[in-house]
Amino acid sequence: MSFEDLGLTPDTLKAVTESGYTTPTPIQEQAIPVVLMGRDVLGVAQTGTGKTAAFTMPMIDILADGRSKARMPRSLIIAPTRELAAQIADNFIKYGKYHPLNMALLIGGESMSDQEKALDRGVDVLIATPGRLLDLFERGRILLNDVKIMVIDEADRMLDMGFIPDVERIVSLLPKIRQTLFFSATMNKEIRKLADQFLMNPKEIAVAPQATAAATVVQGLVMVRNEDKREALRRILRAHNVHNAFIFCNRKRDVDILFKSLEKHGFSAVALHGDMPQSKRNDMLAKFKANEAELLVCSDVAARGLDISDVGHVINFDVPVHAEDYIHRIGRTGRAGKAGHAFTLSSPGDHKQLAAVEKLLNGPIPPLVVAELGALALSADIAAAETEKEGPRARRGRAPRRPPRKTAPVDDIAVVQQPTLDFSPPPEAVAPEPVVEEEKQAAKSRPPRERKDSRHDRNRDVRGPQDRARKTRRNPHGIAEMDIDDDVVAFGGFTPAFLLVDPYGGKGAPQEIANVPEDVDDEDDLSHETVSASPAETNLDLSPTGGDITELAARSS
Ligand code: AMP
Repeated sequence: MSFEDLGLTPDTLKAVTESGYTTPTPIQEQAIPVVLMGRDVLGVAQTGTGKTAAFTMPMIDILADGRSKARMPRSLIIAPTRELAAQIADNFIKYGKYHPLNMALLIGGESMSDQEKALDRGVDVLIATPGRLLDLFERGRILLNDVKIMVIDEADRMLDMGFIPDVERIVSLLPKIRQTLFFSATMNKEIRKLADQFLMNPKEIAVAPQATAAATVVQGLVMVRNEDKREALRRILRAHNVHNAFIFCNRKRDVDILFKSLEKHGFSAVALHGDMPQSKRNDMLAKFKANEAELLVCSDVAARGLDISDVGHVINFDVPVHAEDYIHRIGRTGRAGKAGHAFTLSSPGDHKQLAAVEKLLNGPIPPLVVAELGALALSADIAAAETEKEGPRARRGRAPRRPPRKTAPVDDIAVVQQPTLDFSPPPEAVAPEPVVEEEKQAAKSRPPRERKDSRHDRNRDVRGPQDRARKTRRNPHGIAEMDIDDDVVAFGGFTPAFLLVDPYGGKGAPQEIANVPEDVDDEDDLSHETVSASPAETNLDLSPTGGDITELAARSS
């Protein structure tokens, strides 16, 4: 089948041809005609399958007729991360180059006033992360009554990040009669429930992730002590001549530490995590994409959606806390049928997380032999013995901060059993590098991480995603509050200190709770940040139609 058979307009086809695509991918083949018919779609597809084009191309044609009004977008696309939202915007620019559509990108960390100005001019395509969209809605800067097409992208990621209550709120603000396109990389009961809630008689389209992506990725595991990881990484980078790699850490602060360490050792690196101001995130990513930096040290915020070609290596500096993230991380390399390498550094303390990844892969990750590692590489026997020696804490592994996901097993991902990899140079070339003592000292003398919020800040939202979903309120001490009827005299929404009982009797939290990593990068939509950056709109060509928002609200109600 060719693109011409899908029912797209000549202008869109011209843009597709100029993109260099000759054949539609399976999701494009199935979804484009259905979207053009105006039907809802439930798409189960990962990034890398061409799903973004599967919804952007037909949307461009549908929106080609009609005109947007100030502050009333005609279509809305919700994405979980800013980078993914920006990538969707790039797709609209690429395929919509022959259509005069106005687009605005509403993401946290960018200047609000620029986004407000874009909305005032009227937008055909609004791409947003949920938090920033709701912020602007609550400020009265946007009305959603005119949305004809809504896309929810990466629904499973939204669920993991606790955005579903926000998405439900957004959907409740849209007209009942609309077209909804819902995409998720995985399907489980919760996702199915959401799909039932948001979609009407959808066409279900499921495509297996491109088998070639996984099949072309050579995987390898290095067992190494935690304190030797940075040194081991440097040796692997040099031995394997790595020039274009994602290096994943589980925690944001480790991203910063590793980035500084690599820079100090002369590597060309940039860093990316969810706590960085958006302007810096954009800069870092742009540098990496332009090959101005060879290594991107990042958290899982970069594990999904980012589509950068020619990434030769993914290195897991930490075994991911959630096994599925392993699949998403290694999917950054070996794209479009190219060869890729995915190496994982695992310490004895990562035993449980590693077991979960290997269970998901249906087999062990083959050992990677790099002679330059010398004594840093632990044999399986030593690693097992050290796991025992570290005691129950190591065997248990670090407890995930988020509840375990209930996603379906990733059994459709082709995992090729790799032979043991040996990149050893001849023995005489092996020169063990001195261990950098100052790094160890710096790690020891680091002051404890500053908390962003005071524990006693009454306004702090201490609810987790599940609480938010259940609408359970918690006081600043993390204790769930009762729902009190309006006619009952009580202490308002706050529990006085004298009523609080310390659940640990003054002895502090037990080890397994105290060990939970605090800054796992699982929240990206930092919509309440106030960081200014460059304007996020593109292709704006309509003059403002004006109109006070209250007036518009009154007119539309
Ligand atoms: P996505 O799944 O949307 O993240 O797309 C993954 C990559 O596939 C992107 O780099 C797209 O530019 C590319 N792509 C999308 N459609 C096609 C196509 N029909 N032929 C070749 N590449 C495509």
